[in-house]
Amino acid sequence: MKGKNYIAGKWVGARGGSEYESRNPAQTGEILGRVPLSHREDVEQAVVSAKEAFPAWRALSRIKRGEAIERFVDIVKAGADEMARLVAREAGKAINEARADVIEGIHMAQYMFGHARMPYGQALPSEIAEKDAYMLRKPKGVVSVITPWNFPFAIPIWLISPSLLEGNTVVFKPSEETPLVGEKIVECFERAGLPPGVLNLVQGMGEEVGWPLVVHPDVEVVLFTGSYEVGARIKQACAKDYRKMCACEMGGKNAMIICLDADLELAVRAAILSAFKTAGQRCTSASRLIIHESRMKEFAQAFVAMAKRIVIGDPMDQQVFMGPVINEAAVKKVGFYNQLAKNEGAEILLDGGRLEEGEYRNGYFCSPFIYRMAHRRDARVLHEEVFGPHVALIPFRSLEEAVAIHNDVEYGLAFSAITEDYRTARLLQEACEFGVGYWNLPTIGAEVHLPFGGVKKSGTGMPASWPLLDVVTHKVAWTVNHGREIKMAQGMSAEV
Ligand code: NAD
Repeated sequence: MKGKNYIAGKWVGARGGSEYESRNPAQTGEILGRVPLSHREDVEQAVVSAKEAFPAWRALSRIKRGEAIERFVDIVKAGADEMARLVAREAGKAINEARADVIEGIHMAQYMFGHARMPYGQALPSEIAEKDAYMLRKPKGVVSVITPWNFPFAIPIWLISPSLLEGNTVVFKPSEETPLVGEKIVECFERAGLPPGVLNLVQGMGEEVGWPLVVHPDVEVVLFTGSYEVGARIKQACAKDYRKMCACEMGGKNAMIICLDADLELAVRAAILSAFKTAGQRCTSASRLIIHESRMKEFAQAFVAMAKRIVIGDPMDQQVFMGPVINEAAVKKVGFYNQLAKNEGAEILLDGGRLEEGEYRNGYFCSPFIYRMAHRRDARVLHEEVFGPHVALIPFRSLEEAVAIHNDVEYGLAFSAITEDYRTARLLQEACEFGVGYWNLPTIGAEVHLPFGGVKKSGTGMPASWPLLDVVTHKVAWTVNHGREIKMAQGMSAEV
């Protein structure tokens, strides 16, 4: 571990030398490393470095930039196991999920290298016979990449690789919960031969590092993934600066609709994965299961029975399904919402919350909490993101009612319809407000070549994957006169 920032091609400490510790959420006594606690001055240096590196980087051919991403893929693949172990230990994700996180990042980098090998643009007929017209793309300049902890490898790659491919330079601020995974990513890019200043790393907290990266006048684009509360502030700040653009991907209050004709076994499996993978800490985790009332009883029985069999424990153990939540604040948040559900009249089907005995003593472990909320549609607990193993079962009678319940939240990220009938699925796909939808599948499972992003409070409408190429480039028109002259306007002599 370097335990440093990476600015202008050099590993450096924070100005003033402050540091903080990264700890394992499953074993809070285990210090994984120390990283700089940076401030505005460190951000300033990183932005200057990115700005200086921009002209030479954009002048390189797109293929050469793509090849750096290809080399990055080779380097990550060679150390994928080690990377996955670090993800598991720093983010608390079960080891198989940690591997999937790394693989998803590799896939996105491969996809972006593929784009380098598939150059695109447009040659268009002009309105005038003597002209040819083109649509070209230009990079925007310095891009800030600010990321959450729950996909500490994949999400940074989702945002960094399209930015670099198109000729932008980047200042990257990983989550303060997973700084060492962030450092490893940058180290791999360094080994891939990125020129100094093209990718910079500044470690630290949101307010001291993230915010200066948002408002810095030399940052052209802010790519953010994280909570709505932070994303909304970023969008407002960017709106005040006429040059600045942002793409924010934020939280969710995702739901599955389980219809009258649902295959019960499929529904239960999909619901378990949606609600409890990553201990319910995915932006796409389902925390609302909207179930036809005549299937509620049998579904609830099978779902609770399976949830009771979930193995909770050390993420490094292959048998473990659910690791810890990320920190003390997350444990408290889960506890708060579990209690709130009780206060708001929920029928508790499986009481859960903090686990403190035995092997759980030194980590942030929580068990699944499942409740039925039949009457109070306005209950606060049905509307706010919990980001933990906490899920509501809500009955419906008609499809119209199911859609109304589904859409009655301020978020709109992931959705799944469980039905055997194409027309029902088609209706739900049309009527439900979401960005990432599934039929007879869990609400989780992104693919890198599909757009990924939410509507309403879940996103600013510029999803990841290829749509992000439009965010980090400016499309310009280029019109060429292939005629011999420019015709003069009526009333003006053509003689020079
Ligand atoms: P968070 O918003 O607390 O932090 C995300 C990042 O923003 C971190 O790097 C943090 O340091 C930084 N940050 C915090 N305050 C900031 C500020 N004032 N200015 C600039 N940056 C600031 O989120 P988190 O706890 O890391 O992640 C969980 C949240 O992320 C959940 O809401 C989850 O749904 C969401 N998420 C969304 C997606 C998606 O694609 N839609 C993916 C993963 C996670």
